[in-house]
This record gives sequence, C-alpha cells and structure tokens, in this order.
Amino acid sequence: MGPKRAATPDPTSRKKVKRVPTNKTLSSSPSAANHRSGSSASSPAHSSTSATSQSSNPPALTWKAPAFKGFTLRVEARRRPSVESTALPSPFERANGRPIFNTLNYRVEPARYWDAMREYRRFSIQNQSIELGDCIYVTASADEDVALDAPIRGWVAKVLHVRAHDPSHVFLLVAWMYRPEDLPNGRKPYHGNYELIASNDLQIIDAMTVEEKAPVVYWDEHDDENESLDPRTLFWRQTIDVQRSRPLLSKLRTHCIDNKPCNPDQVTVQCPHCKVWLHGACIEEAAVRSLFQQHNLAYPPRTSVPRFSAQFTASQDQPCRLRVTDHHAKPGEMKHWNQEADCLLCDRNIDDSSEPEAGEEEGFHDGVDITAILEE
Ligand SMILES: [Zn+2]
Ligand SMILES: [Zn+2]
Repeated sequence: MGPKRAATPDPTSRKKVKRVPTNKTLSSSPSAANHRSGSSASSPAHSSTSATSQSSNPPALTWKAPAFKGFTLRVEARRRPSVESTALPSPFERANGRPIFNTLNYRVEPARYWDAMREYRRFSIQNQSIELGDCIYVTASADEDVALDAPIRGWVAKVLHVRAHDPSHVFLLVAWMYRPEDLPNGRKPYHGNYELIASNDLQIIDAMTVEEKAPVVYWDEHDDENESLDPRTLFWRQTIDVQRSRPLLSKLRTHCIDNKPCNPDQVTVQCPHCKVWLHGACIEEAAVRSLFQQHNLAYPPRTSVPRFSAQFTASQDQPCRLRVTDHHAKPGEMKHWNQEADCLLCDRNIDDSSEPEAGEEEGFHDGVDITAILEE
C-alpha cells in the first residue's frame, strides 16, 4: 500500500515555482555526467563558480508526452547494483545519528532527462525556501486521497535531492513519510493524531506538487527526559522499511501492565517508585474495575451506561488526579470524588515519590535482599 503517489501534474495547472538565486544554489558542475555519483547530492556545490552557467546550453529536451511521461525511480538489488546506479544513504537517522535504513542503489529513468538537470541545494515555492532535508506537504490529486478523515491531509515527504532543468521543470527525489492510515494495517490506537512513519519509499516528484514546508520533528521515545510533544506538532518515531519482500514496521517501546506502546496524545505517567510508565487509560480501567468488584457488579459492565467511570489527568507540575463518577448516584449520594492513583505494578501511590523508610518494605532490610541473608 503506502501513500498514493502524487502524479506529475498537468502543466496547465501548475503552480509557480521560482528558482532561487543562482549563486546560492547552482551546482558548480554543469556537466550532467558529473552528477551521477551518489555523493554529489550531499555536497552539491563546492561554491558556485558563475551565475552565467545558467545560460549554458541545456540539452534540447521535449518535456511533453509522449517524449516525457515523468520519472521512474528503480531501486536495485543490494548485492548487484549496476554501474549506472546511485547510492543513497538512509534518508532518516535516529537522534544519535545512527542510520535507520540500509543504503539503497537506485536509477532514475529516463536517465537522459534526469542527467540533463542540475542539482540544487534548495528551491523556493510560494516565497518559501525549501532545503535538502526539509519535509514538505505534497498535493494529492482528488482521486488519490482515500483517507479523507485522516488528521493529516495530503502527503508528507522528506526532500533528498533537488534537480532542475529550468524554472518550470524542477524535480525532487523524496522519501515518503506515511500517515498511519497509509500503513498496510492502518492506524493503531497508539498512533498520535499527527504521527508520521519514516520510510525508505522513494519517488521522484514534480516540485509543482509541493504545497509548503512541513515542520516534522523526531520524537525519541527511549529518552525518558524527552520533553512532551506539542499535540499539534508533526512527529515521527516509527519507521517502515518497504525495500523488503514484505514491508517491515519497526517495533515501538512498550509500557505498563498491558505491555503496549504509548500514544503521545494521551496521558502516560511514570511511577516515581518502580519507574514504569503507565497508560492513563489503564489506570482508569483498573479503578473502574475495582469499584465494580467492590459493589459486586459484573465486569466488564453489560449496561449501556456503566455505573462508574474514571478520568485520570496528569501534567508535569500538577499532582495526578483520578476522578471517579458514579452515574447511578441518587440525590444526596456522592456523584464525583477523587481517589488516589496507585501504580498498576508496584501498587504504590504514584503521587507520592518520597523514598521509603529503611526497613519499611517487607522482605528488605537496609537494602539487603532477605534471600541473600538466608543463603549465608
Ligand atoms: Zn510502580
Ligand atoms: Zn497500559
């Protein structure tokens, strides 16, 4: 599956793409042959030699079909890349700079057109400058956007290469960032509203299909000191490797008693005692289940309006709050109350981070495991 592809647009419906000043962006190598090596993109310009290189005669090309029908990118088998292929290092990295995907070898066809273009470090559209490594929103044509209710409209991609023949023929090599809706198994409960999945799904797109820059951040879920995400921020933490016989979605860090990933849009709280992260929804469920048991009611509830519900809230500087509602409370009875939230693993109050007194915990004395004493 994967994101549907933004087609090469009809030239008559093109948005205006402005080429940025030549001294900033023109590659110093006018010869197309020099652009074949894979390293040329990461250091596209040693420094521009002359603004006049713009006027050097580009090869005569007819950009209209049937001569040109758009570019096709082919990824080659890892072990036997052809001499014409270009190596592309992983388009995405972890916070520590470690690449995520294997280096790929690719070819772009028709090569004559691809090679006739110059490489650029940036391009601008609608007065917005977009550089290599930036993420962009890409227009999906009307028949392409199947997930109309997806929180992220249209496609998002990372710009890896920029090539242009002239201001109206600007092409980008991009790596797609999938929306959860575009994954083979769709959106899961742990996916945030504005979550994207970094992929090594590459494509050449026409810069005319770019809408604007898309600010995307990497969220390192293994860093417990990580600042919480602004819920309106586009972010990624998961990856999908599509260059395998079957697409491989990376595993996420799991937490809590149910051993599931967290959804960054929902409350997840770290127990100050055992340091385990707990889903707010699991704390709520445990509280409701316990109330049903206390009242000898069947759980899970069979009624359309269950008697009890709970809402757990937590923020950085506020104490956690577990608010319970009795939906069947009669006049004069308590309808809402707050109760202590206990860790689902170590049973201790997750609001109380004070250290236990020495010898307070059963089975432990001054930090010596009682089993060790017995073995002496
Ligand atoms: Zn705990
Ligand atoms: Zn949980």
